[in-house]
Amino acid sequence: MKKTEHLRYLCSAGESHKGPVGLYNIGQTCCLNCLLQVFIMNLNFTKILKSITMPRELEERKRSVPYQLLLLLEKMQDSRLRAVRPVELVCCLQNYNVPLFVEHDAAQLFLTLWNLIQSQITDSELSERLKTLYTVTIQESLVCLDCDKKSHRDSSMLTLSLPLFDTDSQPLKTLEDSLHCFFQPRMLSGKNKCFCKKCGKMTSWQQTLKVTSSPPTLTLHLMRFSSENSSKTQKVIHPLSFPQSLDFSKALPAEQDWWDSEGQATWEDIKRTYGNYYLYWGETAYLLVYKKIESQLVNSPATSMMVR
Ligand code: ZN
Repeated sequence: MKKTEHLRYLCSAGESHKGPVGLYNIGQTCCLNCLLQVFIMNLNFTKILKSITMPRELEERKRSVPYQLLLLLEKMQDSRLRAVRPVELVCCLQNYNVPLFVEHDAAQLFLTLWNLIQSQITDSELSERLKTLYTVTIQESLVCLDCDKKSHRDSSMLTLSLPLFDTDSQPLKTLEDSLHCFFQPRMLSGKNKCFCKKCGKMTSWQQTLKVTSSPPTLTLHLMRFSSENSSKTQKVIHPLSFPQSLDFSKALPAEQDWWDSEGQATWEDIKRTYGNYYLYWGETAYLLVYKKIESQLVNSPATSMMVR
Protein backbone atom coordinates (compact mmCIF):
# COMPACT_ATOMS: atom_id res chain seq x y z
CA MET A 1 0.00 0.00 0.00
CA LYS A 2 1.31 3.44 -0.89
CA LYS A 3 2.14 5.88 1.83
CA THR A 4 -0.92 7.96 2.38
CA GLU A 5 -1.09 11.64 3.19
CA HIS A 6 -3.86 11.01 5.64
CA LEU A 7 -3.43 10.52 9.33
CA ARG A 8 -5.28 7.34 10.08
CA TYR A 9 -5.80 5.61 13.38
CA LEU A 10 -7.22 2.15 13.95
CA CYS A 11 -9.40 1.48 16.97
CA SER A 12 -7.87 -1.27 19.18
CA ALA A 13 -10.09 -4.20 18.14
CA GLY A 14 -10.09 -6.63 15.32
CA GLU A 15 -7.21 -9.06 15.42
CA SER A 16 -8.03 -12.38 16.94
CA HIS A 17 -4.58 -13.53 17.92
CA LYS A 18 -3.71 -15.62 20.94
CA GLY A 19 -2.53 -13.05 23.43
CA PRO A 20 -2.41 -12.56 27.17
CA VAL A 21 -5.33 -13.95 29.17
CA GLY A 22 -7.80 -11.63 30.91
CA LEU A 23 -8.05 -10.25 34.43
CA TYR A 24 -10.46 -11.04 37.24
CA ASN A 25 -12.35 -8.24 38.89
CA ILE A 26 -11.09 -8.29 42.48
CA GLY A 27 -13.13 -5.49 44.02
CA GLN A 28 -14.58 -2.98 41.57
CA THR A 29 -11.39 -3.18 39.56
CA CYS A 30 -13.18 -3.49 36.21
CA CYS A 31 -12.25 0.04 35.17
CA LEU A 32 -8.64 -0.53 36.27
CA ASN A 33 -8.61 -3.90 34.47
CA CYS A 34 -9.80 -2.26 31.25
CA LEU A 35 -6.99 0.27 31.45
CA LEU A 36 -4.39 -2.39 32.27
CA GLN A 37 -5.51 -4.33 29.20
CA VAL A 38 -5.26 -1.19 27.10
CA PHE A 39 -1.64 -0.74 28.22
CA ILE A 40 -0.73 -4.41 27.98
CA MET A 41 -2.20 -4.88 24.50
CA ASN A 42 -0.04 -2.06 23.21
CA LEU A 43 3.14 -3.67 21.90
CA ASN A 44 5.01 -0.37 21.81
CA PHE A 45 4.18 0.07 25.46
CA THR A 46 5.22 -3.45 26.48
CA LYS A 47 8.54 -3.02 24.63
CA ILE A 48 9.26 -0.07 26.91
CA LEU A 49 8.06 -1.99 29.96
CA LYS A 50 10.33 -4.93 29.20
CA SER A 51 13.36 -2.63 29.06
CA ILE A 52 12.97 -1.07 32.51
CA THR A 53 15.67 -1.45 35.15
CA MET A 54 14.47 -3.88 37.81
CA PRO A 55 14.25 -2.37 41.29
CA ARG A 56 16.79 -4.10 43.58
CA GLU A 57 15.09 -4.17 46.95
CA LEU A 58 11.99 -6.22 47.63
CA GLU A 59 10.22 -3.23 49.17
CA GLU A 60 11.08 -1.12 46.14
CA ARG A 61 9.69 -3.82 43.85
CA LYS A 62 6.43 -3.92 45.76
CA ARG A 63 6.01 -0.18 45.28
CA SER A 64 7.07 0.04 41.63
CA VAL A 65 4.06 0.33 39.31
CA PRO A 66 6.03 -0.41 36.10
CA TYR A 67 7.66 -3.44 37.72
CA GLN A 68 4.35 -4.82 39.02
CA LEU A 69 2.79 -4.22 35.62
CA LEU A 70 5.61 -6.17 34.01
CA LEU A 71 5.08 -9.09 36.42
CA LEU A 72 1.37 -9.01 35.65
CA LEU A 73 2.06 -9.03 31.93
CA GLU A 74 4.27 -12.11 32.35
CA LYS A 75 1.56 -13.85 34.35
CA MET A 76 -1.05 -13.00 31.74
CA GLN A 77 1.16 -14.38 29.00
CA ASP A 78 2.08 -17.57 30.84
CA SER A 79 -1.14 -18.44 32.54
CA ARG A 80 -2.96 -21.64 31.65
CA LEU A 81 -5.92 -20.21 33.49
CA ARG A 82 -8.57 -18.19 31.74
CA ALA A 83 -7.71 -15.09 33.72
CA VAL A 84 -5.37 -13.89 36.46
CA ARG A 85 -5.91 -11.78 39.58
CA PRO A 86 -4.02 -8.48 39.56
CA VAL A 87 -3.54 -8.63 43.36
CA GLU A 88 0.05 -7.41 43.69
CA LEU A 89 -0.45 -4.53 41.29
CA VAL A 90 -3.66 -3.47 43.03
CA CYS A 91 -1.82 -3.56 46.41
CA CYS A 92 0.98 -1.51 44.89
CA LEU A 93 -1.49 1.08 43.59
CA GLN A 94 -3.02 1.46 47.04
CA ASN A 95 0.25 3.16 48.03
CA TYR A 96 -0.60 5.89 45.55
CA ASN A 97 -4.21 6.68 46.45
CA VAL A 98 -5.77 4.29 43.98
CA PRO A 99 -8.08 2.40 46.37
CA LEU A 100 -10.08 -0.77 45.85
CA PHE A 101 -13.87 -0.85 46.05
CA VAL A 102 -14.18 2.60 44.52
CA GLU A 103 -15.61 3.37 41.12
CA HIS A 104 -12.93 5.29 39.28
CA ASP A 105 -13.30 7.75 36.47
CA ALA A 106 -11.55 6.01 33.59
CA ALA A 107 -9.99 9.16 32.14
CA GLN A 108 -8.69 10.25 35.53
CA LEU A 109 -7.40 6.78 36.34
CA PHE A 110 -5.67 6.58 32.96
CA LEU A 111 -3.80 9.81 33.74
CA THR A 112 -2.96 8.63 37.27
CA LEU A 113 -1.59 5.30 36.01
CA TRP A 114 0.32 6.85 33.16
CA ASN A 115 1.90 9.45 35.43
CA LEU A 116 2.88 6.79 37.98
CA ILE A 117 4.45 4.62 35.30
CA GLN A 118 6.22 7.55 33.67
CA SER A 119 7.56 8.98 36.92
CA GLN A 120 8.78 5.58 38.14
CA ILE A 121 10.70 4.65 35.00
CA THR A 122 14.21 5.64 36.02
CA ASP A 123 15.81 5.46 32.56
CA SER A 124 15.32 8.88 30.97
CA GLU A 125 15.45 7.53 27.41
CA LEU A 126 12.66 5.05 28.15
CA SER A 127 10.61 7.66 29.90
CA GLU A 128 10.99 9.89 26.84
CA ARG A 129 9.87 7.02 24.59
CA LEU A 130 6.77 6.60 26.72
CA LYS A 131 6.00 10.30 26.36
CA THR A 132 6.42 10.16 22.60
CA LEU A 133 4.17 7.11 22.41
CA TYR A 134 1.16 8.78 24.03
CA THR A 135 1.52 12.56 23.87
CA VAL A 136 -0.26 14.80 21.38
CA THR A 137 1.38 18.17 20.86
CA ILE A 138 -1.03 20.97 20.16
CA GLN A 139 -0.21 24.47 19.03
CA GLU A 140 -2.69 27.04 20.19
CA SER A 141 -2.78 30.24 18.12
CA LEU A 142 -4.53 33.35 19.38
CA VAL A 143 -5.31 36.51 17.42
CA CYS A 144 -6.55 39.67 19.16
CA LEU A 145 -9.59 40.82 17.22
CA ASP A 146 -8.96 44.49 18.14
CA CYS A 147 -5.31 44.90 17.11
CA ASP A 148 -4.42 41.67 15.23
CA LYS A 149 -1.68 40.77 17.72
CA LYS A 150 -0.82 37.08 17.36
CA SER A 151 0.52 34.66 19.93
CA HIS A 152 1.31 30.95 19.94
CA ARG A 153 1.64 28.43 22.69
CA ASP A 154 2.50 24.72 22.56
CA SER A 155 0.99 22.25 24.94
CA SER A 156 1.28 18.50 25.36
CA MET A 157 -1.75 16.40 26.11
CA LEU A 158 -2.16 12.74 27.03
CA THR A 159 -5.80 12.69 26.04
CA LEU A 160 -7.89 14.93 23.84
CA SER A 161 -11.04 15.82 25.77
CA LEU A 162 -13.72 15.93 23.12
CA PRO A 163 -17.12 17.62 23.32
CA LEU A 164 -20.45 15.84 22.94
CA PHE A 165 -22.23 19.05 21.95
CA ASP A 166 -21.45 21.59 19.27
CA THR A 167 -21.13 25.33 19.89
CA ASP A 168 -24.94 25.69 19.57
CA SER A 169 -25.38 23.00 22.27
CA GLN A 170 -26.67 20.48 19.74
CA PRO A 171 -25.65 16.85 20.35
CA LEU A 172 -22.82 15.67 18.11
CA LYS A 173 -23.45 12.32 16.43
CA THR A 174 -20.05 10.96 15.45
CA LEU A 175 -16.50 10.97 16.76
CA GLU A 176 -15.37 12.74 13.59
CA ASP A 177 -17.90 15.53 14.22
CA SER A 178 -16.65 15.84 17.76
CA LEU A 179 -13.01 16.08 16.61
CA HIS A 180 -14.02 18.60 13.99
CA CYS A 181 -15.76 20.67 16.62
CA PHE A 182 -12.74 20.43 18.95
CA PHE A 183 -10.40 21.78 16.26
CA GLN A 184 -12.74 24.44 14.91
CA PRO A 185 -11.47 28.01 15.37
CA ARG A 186 -13.43 29.56 18.20
CA MET A 187 -14.10 33.05 19.47
CA LEU A 188 -12.97 33.85 22.98
CA SER A 189 -15.38 36.63 23.92
CA GLY A 190 -17.63 37.62 26.81
CA LYS A 191 -16.40 35.93 29.97
CA ASN A 192 -13.67 34.20 27.93
CA LYS A 193 -11.96 37.46 26.89
CA CYS A 194 -8.20 37.60 27.45
CA PHE A 195 -5.91 40.49 28.32
CA CYS A 196 -4.07 41.99 25.32
CA LYS A 197 -0.81 43.74 26.23
CA LYS A 198 -0.87 45.79 23.04
CA CYS A 199 -4.43 47.01 23.55
CA GLY A 200 -3.91 47.30 27.32
CA LYS A 201 -7.34 45.78 28.04
CA MET A 202 -9.43 42.62 27.93
CA THR A 203 -10.28 41.86 24.31
CA SER A 204 -11.92 39.14 22.21
CA TRP A 205 -9.59 36.66 20.52
CA GLN A 206 -9.84 33.98 17.89
CA GLN A 207 -8.36 30.69 19.07
CA THR A 208 -7.17 27.96 16.70
CA LEU A 209 -5.80 24.58 17.76
CA LYS A 210 -3.47 22.59 15.54
CA VAL A 211 -1.87 19.20 16.06
CA THR A 212 1.89 19.62 15.64
CA SER A 213 2.80 16.08 16.57
CA SER A 214 0.52 13.06 16.70
CA PRO A 215 1.44 10.07 18.85
CA PRO A 216 1.45 6.41 17.76
CA THR A 217 -1.26 5.82 20.39
CA LEU A 218 -4.07 8.34 20.48
CA THR A 219 -6.33 8.47 23.54
CA LEU A 220 -9.64 10.26 23.17
CA HIS A 221 -11.76 11.18 26.13
CA LEU A 222 -15.42 11.92 25.53
CA MET A 223 -16.63 14.56 27.96
CA ARG A 224 -19.64 12.68 29.26
CA PHE A 225 -19.63 14.25 32.70
CA SER A 226 -21.17 17.65 32.95
CA SER A 227 -21.90 19.88 35.93
CA GLU A 228 -23.42 22.65 33.84
CA ASN A 229 -26.93 23.84 34.79
CA SER A 230 -26.81 21.71 37.90
CA SER A 231 -24.88 21.49 41.13
CA LYS A 232 -24.52 17.73 40.64
CA THR A 233 -22.23 16.11 38.09
CA GLN A 234 -24.34 14.32 35.52
CA LYS A 235 -23.47 11.84 32.87
CA VAL A 236 -24.31 12.89 29.35
CA ILE A 237 -25.99 9.92 27.74
CA HIS A 238 -26.43 10.03 24.04
CA PRO A 239 -24.94 7.83 21.35
CA LEU A 240 -21.79 8.99 19.61
CA SER A 241 -20.64 6.54 17.00
CA PHE A 242 -16.94 5.94 16.47
CA PRO A 243 -15.24 4.22 13.55
CA GLN A 244 -12.90 1.28 13.58
CA SER A 245 -10.55 3.23 11.41
CA LEU A 246 -10.35 6.93 12.13
CA ASP A 247 -9.22 9.37 9.47
CA PHE A 248 -7.86 12.02 11.77
CA SER A 249 -7.01 14.29 8.86
CA LYS A 250 -10.68 14.87 8.08
CA ALA A 251 -11.16 16.38 11.49
CA LEU A 252 -8.03 18.52 11.40
CA PRO A 253 -7.52 21.88 9.76
CA ALA A 254 -4.19 21.03 8.13
CA GLU A 255 -2.30 18.17 6.53
CA GLN A 256 -2.15 15.17 8.89
CA ASP A 257 -1.92 11.26 8.73
CA TRP A 258 -3.91 8.10 9.53
CA TRP A 259 -4.74 6.14 12.62
CA ASP A 260 -6.41 2.80 13.38
CA SER A 261 -7.91 0.84 16.23
CA GLU A 262 -6.49 -2.31 17.83
CA GLY A 263 -7.32 -4.93 20.46
CA GLN A 264 -7.92 -8.51 21.37
CA ALA A 265 -11.67 -8.18 21.14
CA THR A 266 -13.00 -8.16 17.61
CA TRP A 267 -14.46 -5.03 16.12
CA GLU A 268 -17.84 -6.78 16.19
CA ASP A 269 -17.42 -7.30 19.94
CA ILE A 270 -16.67 -3.65 20.44
CA LYS A 271 -19.64 -2.55 18.34
CA ARG A 272 -21.89 -4.92 20.23
CA THR A 273 -20.63 -3.62 23.53
CA TYR A 274 -20.09 0.08 23.03
CA GLY A 275 -20.67 0.93 19.44
CA ASN A 276 -23.26 2.60 17.36
CA TYR A 277 -26.06 0.08 17.67
CA TYR A 278 -29.25 0.62 19.57
CA LEU A 279 -28.06 -0.91 22.77
CA TYR A 280 -27.77 0.53 26.22
CA TRP A 281 -23.97 0.43 26.35
CA GLY A 282 -23.82 1.94 22.91
CA GLU A 283 -24.50 5.23 24.60
CA THR A 284 -21.70 5.13 27.06
CA ALA A 285 -18.31 4.67 25.36
CA TYR A 286 -16.12 7.07 27.25
CA LEU A 287 -12.43 6.57 26.58
CA LEU A 288 -11.22 5.51 23.14
CA VAL A 289 -7.73 4.36 22.28
CA TYR A 290 -6.58 4.41 18.68
CA LYS A 291 -3.34 3.15 17.24
CA LYS A 292 -1.69 5.02 14.41
CA ILE A 293 -1.38 3.25 11.09
CA GLU A 294 1.98 3.85 9.53
CA SER A 295 2.60 3.78 5.79
CA GLN A 296 1.34 0.20 5.73
CA LEU A 297 -2.17 -0.48 6.87
CA VAL A 298 -1.49 -2.33 10.11
CA ASN A 299 -4.62 -3.96 11.41
CA SER A 300 -4.17 -3.20 15.02
CA PRO A 301 -7.26 -3.13 17.20
CA ALA A 302 -8.83 -0.20 19.02
CA THR A 303 -10.05 -0.28 22.53
CA SER A 304 -13.11 1.45 23.79
CA MET A 305 -14.07 1.78 27.37
CA MET A 306 -16.85 3.20 29.42
CA VAL A 307 -17.59 4.07 32.99
CA ARG A 308 -21.03 4.40 34.41
ZN1 ZN B 1 -5.03 43.65 21.02
